[in-house]
Amino acid sequence: MISFEMPEEIRQRLVFVRKVAREKMRAQARHYDENEHEIPWDFVTLMWDEALRTGQSFRSGAAAQPTGSSLVSQTLIHVIEMLSWGDAGLYLCVPGAGLGGAAIAATGTAEQQERFLARFREGKPKWASMAMTEAHCGSDTAAIRTTAVRDGEHWVLSGEKIFVTSGHKSLVDSNGLMVVWATVDPSAGRAGIKSFVVEAGTPGVTVTKLEQKLGIRASDTAVAVFEDCRIPLGNLLGSAEVVDHTKGFKGAMATFDATRPAVAASALGIARATVELLKELLAEQGVVIRYGIPRNLLSAVEREVLDLEAQLRAAWLLTLKATWLMDQRRPNTTESSMCKVKAGDVVTKVTQKGVELMGPLGYSRRLPFEKWMRDAKINDLFEGTGQINRLIVARRILGYSSRELK
Ligand SMILES: Cc1cc2nc3c(=O)[nH]c(=O)nc-3n(C[C@H](O)[C@H](O)[C@H](O)COP(=O)(O)OP(=O)(O)OC[C@H]3O[C@@H](n4cnc5c(N)ncnc54)[C@H](O)[C@@H]3O)c2cc1C
Repeated sequence: MISFEMPEEIRQRLVFVRKVAREKMRAQARHYDENEHEIPWDFVTLMWDEALRTGQSFRSGAAAQPTGSSLVSQTLIHVIEMLSWGDAGLYLCVPGAGLGGAAIAATGTAEQQERFLARFREGKPKWASMAMTEAHCGSDTAAIRTTAVRDGEHWVLSGEKIFVTSGHKSLVDSNGLMVVWATVDPSAGRAGIKSFVVEAGTPGVTVTKLEQKLGIRASDTAVAVFEDCRIPLGNLLGSAEVVDHTKGFKGAMATFDATRPAVAASALGIARATVELLKELLAEQGVVIRYGIPRNLLSAVEREVLDLEAQLRAAWLLTLKATWLMDQRRPNTTESSMCKVKAGDVVTKVTQKGVELMGPLGYSRRLPFEKWMRDAKINDLFEGTGQINRLIVARRILGYSSRELK
């Protein structure tokens, strides 16, 4: 039975995270927003050391930390929400297995999970990224053109990946890795798509560009080019067999089942930060939200704030459900897409209202509202746009295949 009480295990975990969010992240957020591509090493080291000390990651890719708890995913979304309340850009700089690790957890064998994820439990800070998007394909992942050709004991990767979160950190700034989605058979469509691990230091991969962005500017977003990039056969995730065409694409989708609630949680951290500061500043101006009285007696601003809070709560409950299902090891594709759609909508609306209700100050850099509005939008774009996640929900509810409803 799903419970809405926060378990003590999660409460404990949030003590450190809340302190970091308040004291470190908020304090540094503006600096790293204005100095894009500068790495917040003090924050990175703090989070890495704490993860090693406690044996618990602050990022998804939970298979790297076999804790035995049945609350792993639920704990993680509380942590991510709190860190993103601190600053969403800095949260994306937290070292760990992250999206790449989630892909390894979803598609790798037990041996591969140990081989590739053990590094995230020792040594210096490291990142794992995941590269799927190409210049001509983002939503339509079946159209991937990066190729993987078998040559003796190696796979040879060729192609270009764009918009890879932590691409630079995973391959250049640390001894991490990138999970690369490529096709072993371009004529086979999604059946030919597989995931491969490219480790830092592998010849043939170059990070050629860092994007300059609207929001989450502390997070690096990179272009990676693969030219005659040779990796061992065993770096094909899931199976060394070339002919196993059934698991690759499903693996990509399973990765998103695990990570979309994390994106939703990050969105909702920004949304909560906005609502809280909005209420605080409105109260200073004499507008205190009155709960529990009839709606027609409320002022227009009070009604607006109550609506934002209701939307925020609804999105959070959907996110909790998606992760509770994960912790129960039950399918969560529908709920995972649902919560991401809802959270993406909510954070976009809430942060716009933050700017709006604060008037010109909301638009200025004196307050964080304009930054939160810029940071918010990405949650409606990466790991499946709002439109794509709506399609997934619709297909699953109506019983259509991706061919029947596109
Ligand atoms: C900051 C940032 C970080 C990112 N990080 C990563 C990463 O780490 N790894 C990675 O692989 N990718 C990453 N991406 C890429 C991101 O996942 C894609 O941009 C996203 O999936 C959309 O793909 P696209 O850009 O090709 O848009 P398109 O697929 O070209 O879509 C353009 C628009 O059309 C809409 N659309 C497309 N198809 C349909 C349809 N069938 N029905 C209705 N509407 C549709 C889309 O919703 C969108 O609004 C990142 C992007 C950004 C901006």
